[in-house]
Amino acid sequence: MEKDNYINHLIFNSFYINDLYSTEHIYNYINCRIPISKKYVKKLLQKKINNDKLIVYNKKTDCETYILTKKGKITRDSQMKLNINIIERFWKKYKYKNKTYDLVERRTDQCLLRKYLIDNHEHRCKFCKKEYPLCILEAAHIKPFSDSNQYEKYDTNNVLFLCSICHKLYDNGLITINSKHIQMSSSLNHDHLKNLYMHKVDISNNNIKYFNYHNINIYKS
Ligand SMILES: [Zn+2]
Repeated sequence: MEKDNYINHLIFNSFYINDLYSTEHIYNYINCRIPISKKYVKKLLQKKINNDKLIVYNKKTDCETYILTKKGKITRDSQMKLNINIIERFWKKYKYKNKTYDLVERRTDQCLLRKYLIDNHEHRCKFCKKEYPLCILEAAHIKPFSDSNQYEKYDTNNVLFLCSICHKLYDNGLITINSKHIQMSSSLNHDHLKNLYMHKVDISNNNIKYFNYHNINIYKS
């Protein structure tokens, strides 16, 4: 039992602290610390999955993430970033308050935002303007989800399609939008990025207050 507790602790660390999501990664991480059979780790992981206590990242399909719903069903989502936020919140609750989680409700809202973008916007990145398959396009919050109030979180004016690269640069404050132009942080000295962001960005006036927040609070000039 003590051994199981230790392994559970390692499983927790492996994907909460170290961002390891596939069974293989989790197994390798554990096996470095305690010699154990892969079969045993898989069995433990499966047990957690059956009890709605774990997410699975599918390495083979690359950009698709699988998350467990409350009833143990596995659903698909390509919004890895949002999923990570959900998982963090879930683990905080699980670890400190031992409460059940409300993944189903949140996921439904986020799926709606993505569906809104799919149905109403061009399937291209708003910043670099390149066309991409949907698995590369992420529903990005202009004002970060974690900083938004309940209304802002699900306001369609607060989301847009960004490709994975633009999304990461934006979330890390390395680019922002100022007067409908992309402004780059002085720490970004890459010519190919400068060329990528020379054009005017087509955003609506309803997006602007959210960009202003990013400009002031997230952007690292
Ligand atoms: Zn882009």
